[in-house]
Amino acid sequence: MSDNAVVKDEALEYDPQYILQVKNLKKYFPIKGGMISHTIGQVKAVDGVTFNLKRGTTMGLVGESGCGKTTAGRTILRLSGEKTGGQVLFNGKEVYDLSPKEMRELRTKMQIIFQDPFSSLSPRLPVGEIIGEAVREHNLVPKEQFDDYIDQIMDNCGLQPFHKDRYPHEFSGGQRQRICIARALALNPEFVVCDEPVSALDVSIQAQIINLLKELQEKYNLTYLFISHDLSVVEHISDTVGVMYLGSLVEYGETADIFRNPLHPYTKALFSAIPVPDPTVKMDRIVLEGSIPSPANPPKGCKFHTRCPNCTDRCKTEVPQQREIEPGHYVVCHLYSDEA
Ligand code: SF4
Repeated sequence: MSDNAVVKDEALEYDPQYILQVKNLKKYFPIKGGMISHTIGQVKAVDGVTFNLKRGTTMGLVGESGCGKTTAGRTILRLSGEKTGGQVLFNGKEVYDLSPKEMRELRTKMQIIFQDPFSSLSPRLPVGEIIGEAVREHNLVPKEQFDDYIDQIMDNCGLQPFHKDRYPHEFSGGQRQRICIARALALNPEFVVCDEPVSALDVSIQAQIINLLKELQEKYNLTYLFISHDLSVVEHISDTVGVMYLGSLVEYGETADIFRNPLHPYTKALFSAIPVPDPTVKMDRIVLEGSIPSPANPPKGCKFHTRCPNCTDRCKTEVPQQREIEPGHYVVCHLYSDEA
């Protein structure tokens, strides 16, 4: 694609190099009110997310709290009811066109790891059962091989197989996250949404879990969507990065390009807050004015215009389009349009 090429809103065509293709994905939640509880508005939690994800790679999804990262991940997995608009192709198939039976089969291929390992594990089941529950449900391994299979998965995730009769409260935070990873891995997935998987853990444990995720990715050719607000972790683990603001993806590209040359004013501000581990280096922090607008009533034109230091009159009325500025590096901002 040429420089400054506008990404058009056409139907997606399957490209086999991508395990996941997402185009203009939208997920709105109704706001109910009035005497008969009718819809009086909509929270636009995800409002225009477009990206492609190559098999065996990791895409980091970053942005402030409440920007729609988690809802985007859940909407891709079809875990939040019907989407409001857009397309999600997984291995070339529209996820939202699948029948319940087809969706059930696909569930094993698309998994999620949650932020809080404690609340996402049943306190009443021993870990062997937690890890094996869905394996049994989907008949993934013959009965006689079940125990060996669970032992192997636990071993791969750095857990002692002889601990499989213990309960989640008997494990540390890091070990509990390993159990969550083992539970996802046991289903032999191709794609895993990692939703802030290390933010509830100590820094030293974070590194162990990140390294485990990387090892497992290499071993099983897994593809990750890694949702996080920790930019250092995202830089370490991701091949590509998407930056979200108020439900929309504002910039997306190779990790090296995004960190070397952030283009969108919001990305620049976000990245200027990354701590530098050198007390002699003066941080050139960009402090954004104002607060984040409500996703129920986002600003007209560019959603970032109420806080953008580069805002022009055009930004207040015209919605910017996604453009490819350098190969594989996309931005949604009028500063990079041909008329700018
Ligand atoms: Fe800022 Fe305008 Fe670009 Fe939006 S389109 S980020 S307001 S310069």
